[in-house]
Amino acid sequence: MRRIAAPYVLTPEGLQRGVMIEVADDGTVTALRECHAPDRQESLEWYNGILMPGMVNAHCHLELSYMHGKVAPHGGFAGFARGLRAARGSATPDEMVAAAELRDREMWSAGVQAVGDVCNDALTFGVKSHSRISYHNFVELYGLGRRSADAAEEVLAKALDAGLRATITPHSLYSLRDETYIVATRDERLSVHFAESAEEVELYQRRGAMWEWYGVAGFEAPFIGRYASPTERLLALTPPNRRMVLVHACMVTEQEVRQIEGHFEEPPVWVVCPLSNDYISRLTPPVEVLRRCGVRVAVGTDSLSSNTDLDMVAELRAMPSVPLAERLVWATEGGAEALGLGDVFGRLAVGRRPGVVLIEGVDFESMQLRPSATSRRLI
Ligand SMILES: [Zn+2]
Repeated sequence: MRRIAAPYVLTPEGLQRGVMIEVADDGTVTALRECHAPDRQESLEWYNGILMPGMVNAHCHLELSYMHGKVAPHGGFAGFARGLRAARGSATPDEMVAAAELRDREMWSAGVQAVGDVCNDALTFGVKSHSRISYHNFVELYGLGRRSADAAEEVLAKALDAGLRATITPHSLYSLRDETYIVATRDERLSVHFAESAEEVELYQRRGAMWEWYGVAGFEAPFIGRYASPTERLLALTPPNRRMVLVHACMVTEQEVRQIEGHFEEPPVWVVCPLSNDYISRLTPPVEVLRRCGVRVAVGTDSLSSNTDLDMVAELRAMPSVPLAERLVWATEGGAEALGLGDVFGRLAVGRRPGVVLIEGVDFESMQLRPSATSRRLI
C-alpha cells in the first residue's frame, strides 16, 4: 500500500488541502484521510504539487501523430484542411505506427488514463490493444460524395475484433450529406467536430474560405440552403437520445448552447481544445459561454497535425481565466463522462482505480499553472 500527500488533492468534493490518499498495490483507492502534519507521518510520500486522478484526453487523433510539424500553423480552417490533405500519407505505415506508439507511451507517463480517439483507419489498433490507456475509438464517417459507409464499417469491425471500445460517428456538420449523417448517428455515443471555425458557419451563408474551396473542388453540399447554421442542422438530424460529445464549438453562441442542451435527453459534453484552435485559426474555445450555461466540459489535445504536443497540462495552462479547480475537473471527470467512463475513471473515489497523477509547477498563491507546469503519473 502507498500513502501519498501534497499541498492540494483533487477529491470528489473538489480541490482540498490537508488530504492524504491511500492506494492498494493494485491501484485501488482505499481511503482519503485528513493529513495535517505530513512530516510526522511515517512512510508517507510527499510531493509539492497537486494530486489528482488520471486525466482523460477527450479528443485526439492518435493515427495522425506522424504529422507532427507537417501542417503550417495559423493558416485558417480552409488552409489547415488543405495542409492536412497534403500531409496525409507522408510517412510509411511503420513510421505512422511508431509515431502513434511513442505518443501513447508519453500520454500514459504524463497521467492520461483514457482517450476519446478519432479513427479513419485501423492503423493504431495494435498499439491500443497493448496500451495501458483505455481508448474509446470514434470511427468517423465523412465525405460529400455518395459513397457507402463500407470503409468505416470495416474499420469499426477491426476495432471490435481487437477488443477495443468503438462506435461510428459523423465527422462534422460540414463534411457529410444528410443521408450519410443519419447513417453515422446510429450508434449511441457520438463525437462530432462542431462549429469549429468562422468558415464553417459562413459555409451555411454561402460565403467565406470554405465555401470558396467547396466551389473550386466541386464538392456538392446540398445541405447548404436547407439549414441556416451548424446548430440548426445538428438539431434537425441528431436523435435526442444520443450521448453527444461536441468538439471545439469556438463559434457557438450562448443561445445555441442552451438550445442544444434542451434537445438532448442526456446533457452533451463540450470538449475544448484551446491549443488546436490557436494553431489553426488563432481562435479560443467558448469557455465563458460554457461556464455561464453550466454545462459539462472536457478537454482534448486534438492531433499533432494541429498541435505541438499531446499534453493535457499545456491545454489547461492555455485557459488561465477559468479557476484551476474547475479546469482540473474538466480534464478528469469531464472527460470520463464524455466517454461513458464516469463510473470508472475521473475521480479519486474509494474503491476505484482511476490512477494517481501529480501536477508540478503550480503557483499556490495565484492558484495558476506556471509555464513550466507538467504532469506525471505516480500510479
Ligand atoms: Zn479533431
